Amino acid sequence: MTTLDAPVAMLGGTFDPVHYGHLRLASEVRAALALPEVRLVPAGDPPHRGAPEASAADRIAMLELAIRDFPGLRVDTREIRRAGKSYTVLTLEELRSERPGSPLLLLLGADAFRGLTTWHEWQRLFELAHLVVVPRPGADLETELPQALEREWRMRHARDPSPLRSRLAGSIYVQAISAQPISSTAIRDGLMREPVGNPSLAGLLPAAVLAYIRSRQLYRHPANAPFEAAENRRQRT
Ligand code: ATP
Ligand code: MG
Repeated sequence: MTTLDAPVAMLGGTFDPVHYGHLRLASEVRAALALPEVRLVPAGDPPHRGAPEASAADRIAMLELAIRDFPGLRVDTREIRRAGKSYTVLTLEELRSERPGSPLLLLLGADAFRGLTTWHEWQRLFELAHLVVVPRPGADLETELPQALEREWRMRHARDPSPLRSRLAGSIYVQAISAQPISSTAIRDGLMREPVGNPSLAGLLPAAVLAYIRSRQLYRHPANAPFEAAENRRQRT
């Protein structure tokens, strides 16, 4: 039997800003699957949303500060250095050619997984990597998936993690982690309200990241979300 190299794991995202939802996800999956490291890969030009509010340089700086207390996490800036849309399939192709003998693991929150069929060349993802899906509050995995994704799920769902080491790609594995009801959107909303009525942000992201945000005055005057609109949104929920 041929032995494969250790898996290479990545968590893509906008990280606008990075928070404990991302960090605990990555570090709990790393521990549960005994991975050498998990790469956090910030998108340069995310395909499914408007431009990130913070610059690429600020998002990288926040990630570098954030991983200090999380051994085994590292920041991989290739999507920011690469021109064009930050398609995950391109990132996985690069990793595959760099690490031909390593299984690739693509970590995804349940919300991202449910939207997978909208991703560029989404079915190619299974040729390149295994998917490791983690639950996320507000996005359950029990209700029916989009039909095309449901088909892949039936073929690929692995009940135990052994294929993640014995094959290069192709399985979908669900890894239980502790629930983190945290999102960058809620953090940006909270920061926009400062100094009036600021909800406590301290438990949501590392203190060094919060200090960086405050010192650079990030997320204070969002270009795309006028205060009124944010206020209305908040009152609806
Ligand atoms: P935004 O609110 O701006 O969309 P976000 O908090 O959803 O930000 P992203 O950068 O969009 O963060 O997410 C990157 C990846 O991390 C996605 O796969 C997402 O599902 C996952 N993720 C983010 N936060 C959590 C969380 N609290 N629990 C589980 N997965 C998460
Ligand atoms: Mg998101």
